[in-house]
Amino acid sequence: MKKWYAVIGDPIAHSLSPYMHDAWFQESSIDASYIPVHLEPSELEDGFHALKKIGVSGFNVTLPHKQAIIPFLDGLDDTARTMNAVNTVVMKDGKSYGYNTDGDGFVQSLFALPVDREQPLLVIGAGGAARGIVHALHRAGFTRLTVTNRTFRRAEELAGEVGAEVMTISQAEAELGTFHTIVQTTSVGLSDNESLPLSVEWLKPGTVVADIVYNPLVTPLLKVASDKGCKTINGVGMFVHQGAIAFEKWTGKTPNQEAMIDSITQKLGGNNVNR
Ligand code: NAP
Repeated sequence: MKKWYAVIGDPIAHSLSPYMHDAWFQESSIDASYIPVHLEPSELEDGFHALKKIGVSGFNVTLPHKQAIIPFLDGLDDTARTMNAVNTVVMKDGKSYGYNTDGDGFVQSLFALPVDREQPLLVIGAGGAARGIVHALHRAGFTRLTVTNRTFRRAEELAGEVGAEVMTISQAEAELGTFHTIVQTTSVGLSDNESLPLSVEWLKPGTVVADIVYNPLVTPLLKVASDKGCKTINGVGMFVHQGAIAFEKWTGKTPNQEAMIDSITQKLGGNNVNR
């Protein structure tokens, strides 16, 4: 019997998840469809029960529902519990289980370039995505993590959870040349204007600079970093790998991630800047 999967969010029309998962179902010869479902916050509970009623096998959760979905679920894995956010739900025997694949998806994307886990790595930001990424980097064995954020208290809290260093934005700006890898997780750069999350005067050539924003493909930070001779990674890899981990949880199959990174990059109007 045909299976159904979905992504819920508000807004949702822009989501590339239906394109990605439908392509993977097709290439894996799985009889399934993946649909975008627009749910406003006030509709979340009814929408969740409606998805269960029609027999959805699993779904993704995007903004603004990643925390709000938690009270409706029957179980959470450790990562989702630590992050207090869910981006993937697996339905099994009528019960719903929440996971968060964002952080591990990012770490997989980082390994598109040679990255040394023992070299200093700076995370800019301390929001939802940063939480997943910092915990996943810690689990993956990155031993010299530093967190900086506009709101310093949030950086302190997040760094404290994994024993990372913490810096104010101005300290991080002054020390920028000491980092081997810099990971930009804030929403700065989304609007394709000239804004940067911090001053990059001291950015060294050869530094790996990752930005988890993927639309635009080349954010102002990646543009400046590339001009300074840094190696850059955009957010497409994270998006595809987090989706692939969800797909594996639903189907037990590993989809073709490299081809999907190329395909989504082209869909967004670019060449692959990561390779
Ligand atoms: P969030 O929880 O709202 O966190 C936003 C972060 O951005 C906070 O650290 C916030 O700092 C900072 N920030 C916002 N505006 C700022 C400004 N004008 N100047 C400096 N810092 C600013 O959002 P999120 O869920 O973490 O998402 C962040 C970004 O990641 C979004 O652009 C999203 O599209 C992207 N994302 C990408 C993927 C992917 O698959 N590639 C997955 C998830 C998210 P304060 O604490 O000071 O407010």
